[in-house]
Amino acid sequence: MGYLPYLFDPRSTILLAGLMGIMMSLVLFFMRRSYPPSIRGLSDWSRAPLIAFVSTLLFAARGFLPDFATIVVANMVLFQACVIYYAGSQQFLLGRSDTRGWTALNLVLGMLMFWFSSIQPDFEARLAIVTLAVTLLFFFHAMLYVRHKVPVYGMRLMIGLLLAQSLVAGLRFVSVIMGMAGTSIMEATWIQSVYITMYSFSVLFLSIAVVLMATDRVHTEFEYLATRDPLTGVLNRRALLDACLAEFAASHGTQGRPAALLMVDLDHFKSINDRFGHQMGDAVLREAVSRMQRVIGTQGLLGRYGGEEFVVLLPHTTMADAMTIAARLKEGIDEPLPPDSPAHAVGSFAVSIGVATSDGVKDVDEVLAQADEVLYRAKALGRGRVIATATA
Ligand code: GH3
Ligand code: MG
Ligand code: MG
Repeated sequence: MGYLPYLFDPRSTILLAGLMGIMMSLVLFFMRRSYPPSIRGLSDWSRAPLIAFVSTLLFAARGFLPDFATIVVANMVLFQACVIYYAGSQQFLLGRSDTRGWTALNLVLGMLMFWFSSIQPDFEARLAIVTLAVTLLFFFHAMLYVRHKVPVYGMRLMIGLLLAQSLVAGLRFVSVIMGMAGTSIMEATWIQSVYITMYSFSVLFLSIAVVLMATDRVHTEFEYLATRDPLTGVLNRRALLDACLAEFAASHGTQGRPAALLMVDLDHFKSINDRFGHQMGDAVLREAVSRMQRVIGTQGLLGRYGGEEFVVLLPHTTMADAMTIAARLKEGIDEPLPPDSPAHAVGSFAVSIGVATSDGVKDVDEVLAQADEVLYRAKALGRGRVIATATA
C-alpha cells in the first residue's frame, strides 16, 4: 500500500480524470451529431464530463485559489455534473428528465460546504456530506437502470459501474465516520487515492458504457425499421418471407405439425381510394391491420405482402384451425367502422382470404402460390369469403 499514494498522487489523478473527461465529452458530442435524434441523452452525457472537468480544475487549484472556489464551487460543480449525467440516463431510458430534486440537494450541499469551510472549517464533515450525497446519487442512478430491466451488455456495465461508484463513495463515507478522513482532499492516503482513482477511471468507463448502450439502441432501431412496413407497422415482405422460411424449415422436421398461410386481400380497395382519397385508403389499411392483429394475437405473424395484400403465418396449425382463424379474421373485418375510427366515412370494407398449409408441400413459394390461387378463386366467386386449398 505504501507506494500507492506516490503512484496515484491525487492532484495529478484528478487532472488526468479531467482530461479524460474532455476527450470522452468530444467522443459523445460527435456521436450525438451522427446518431439519429431518437437516441436521447447524448447531449447531457457529453456535457457532464466537460462540467466535471471544470470541477477538477477547481479542485486542483486548491491552495492557489480561494477556498470558496476550490471547495464550495468545486463540489457543487462536480455534483451537478453527476446530476446531469443522471439526467442523460433519464432521457435515454424514459425520453424525459427531471432532476430538480437533486439540483435542490446540490444547493443545500453548497450551503453546507460554505458552512464547513468558511464559518466552521471541518474537512471531515465536508467529506462525509459529499461522499454521502454522491453515494445516494449513484445508487439512485443505478436503480434507474435496474428498474428498466433490459438485458443489454452496455446497461449491465452501466449498472455495475454505478454500483461500484456508489459503493466506493459509501465506503469512503464510512471511513470518514470511523475517523479516517485524513486532513485534506489532496492528502495522499491510500484510501483517498483509491477514492480519487476510482473516480478517474469511472469517467472513462461510464462513457464507454454510454457508447455501447447508444450503439445498441441504434442497431435495434435500424433493425426495426428494416423489418417493418412504415404505414402499418407490421412485418414487411422481406421479414415476413424470412419468418416463413424459418418456420417451414423448423416444421419439416416435426411430423404432423404443419404451418398455415393465409393470404388476405382487401376487396375493391381501389374503389375506396377512388371514392374517398388515398389518405382514407391508408386509414382503412391501418384499421384492417389492427383488426387482424386483434384476432391473431400471439398465435401467428402478420406481414404486408404488397399494397392491400397481407399474409398471416400460423405456426403449428392444421387446416381446420387455420380455417377457423380465417373465418374470425373475415368476421372481424366485416364489422362496421365505428364513429371514432379515422376510416369511419368508408362505412365498412371486406376481405377475401385464401388458406393453404405446408402439409405435403416442399417449400414456402409453393404454399404461397397455392394460397394465392385459392384467393383468386375467392375473388372470382364474388369476394368476401374464405377458401382453402382442400375445399377448392
Ligand atoms: P380486388 O377486390 O380484386 O382485390 O380489387 P382491388 O381494387 O382491391 O385490387 P386492385 O389490385 O385493382 O387495386 C389495389 C389498389 O390498392 C391499387 C393501389 O392504388 C392501392 N394501394 C396499394 N398500396 C396502397 C397504399 O399503401 N395506400 C393506399 N391508399 N392505396 C394503396
Ligand atoms: Mg384487393
Ligand atoms: Mg391485391
